[in-house]
Amino acid sequence: MNIAKTLKPKDQLKPKPADENNLGFGRIFTDHMLLMDYQTGKGWHNPRVEPYGPFTLDPAAMIFHYGQEVFEGLKAYRGEGGHVYMFRPAANIERMNRSCDRLCIPALPNEVVLEAMYELIRVEQDWIPRAEGTSLYVRPTIIATEACLGVKTSATYLFYIITGPVGAYYAEGFNPVRIWVEEKYVRAAIGGTGEAKTSGNYASSLKAATEAHEKGFTQVLWLNACDRQSIEEVGTMNIFFKIAGEVITSPLDGSILPGVTRDSVLALCRHWGMNVSERQLTIDDIIAAAKAGTLEEAFGTGTAAVISPVGSIHFKGQDYQVADGQTGALSLKLYDEITGIQLGKKPDPFGWVV
Ligand code: PMP
Repeated sequence: MNIAKTLKPKDQLKPKPADENNLGFGRIFTDHMLLMDYQTGKGWHNPRVEPYGPFTLDPAAMIFHYGQEVFEGLKAYRGEGGHVYMFRPAANIERMNRSCDRLCIPALPNEVVLEAMYELIRVEQDWIPRAEGTSLYVRPTIIATEACLGVKTSATYLFYIITGPVGAYYAEGFNPVRIWVEEKYVRAAIGGTGEAKTSGNYASSLKAATEAHEKGFTQVLWLNACDRQSIEEVGTMNIFFKIAGEVITSPLDGSILPGVTRDSVLALCRHWGMNVSERQLTIDDIIAAAKAGTLEEAFGTGTAAVISPVGSIHFKGQDYQVADGQTGALSLKLYDEITGIQLGKKPDPFGWVV
């Protein structure tokens, strides 16, 4: 596959951020982006690397009206020996194709997309920061571009990847978060789009997140839309509990995003011989375990934070502390193991690293 390249002249490249300890998240973008088009009858075609910049869309483009969109989020790391490492990138492209299926977007050619993504990262490799915990965030996106106000699937799409350096998630240390159990709003329902990574899920989560922040909580714990009891996810992460020695996460029942980090945590815990279950837990189970002193740990998992320990859970006006409220041993061990594998510093028994 020939990936056309129109690169910026070297003397017009943007200056790289001077302070790698202040990168933040998602505000700095590199010099180039990858683009590829889809047209009915022609399929996906013309992958190309071009200078980063705005593109022109018709105001009637279907993405603006009916939200036919999918995206992904993954990272490239500056790891052992100064080399560039990626963690399970094929898993993200496979998930993107499952999201495409749910949103009636034509499937991407996996191999072409992976090769094109690597090419973009090769072009932008000088942007991958070196400070501890930093990385180059990679955001593949597909939008429906046909100019038409009829509610139907678009005949044309634009696939693009933008990238940008991001800061360490734990710049101030590994701090357990306070979470709010959301009883009023729901994120997704079985049969809906919860297991797809599509913009509408995030748009509809903003109200709950805003209200929780106003009350002083970091994340929202989502409950099942039908029974309003079963645990689903936390913010934009999957959630795990360790109760009386058993590591438990919600099953992939259709309303939960199948996280790559979730899958990696399950694989590692099983590899270590731990008692691991993908089974439904209710908020009452969690409160009962907290009261009985058997709630040993709770943590979120996702690409951004890897592991995000939960210190306390707020439900019906009361705070329930998770164990002693500090980061648990399993959270720490998983964080060290996964970040070690991601950077090529630890053995990679599952062949996750590219
Ligand atoms: N759930 C939601 C809703 C998310 O947005 C994310 C982040 N992609 C996750 C879970 C975690 O997925 P991953 O481990 O693949 O980043």
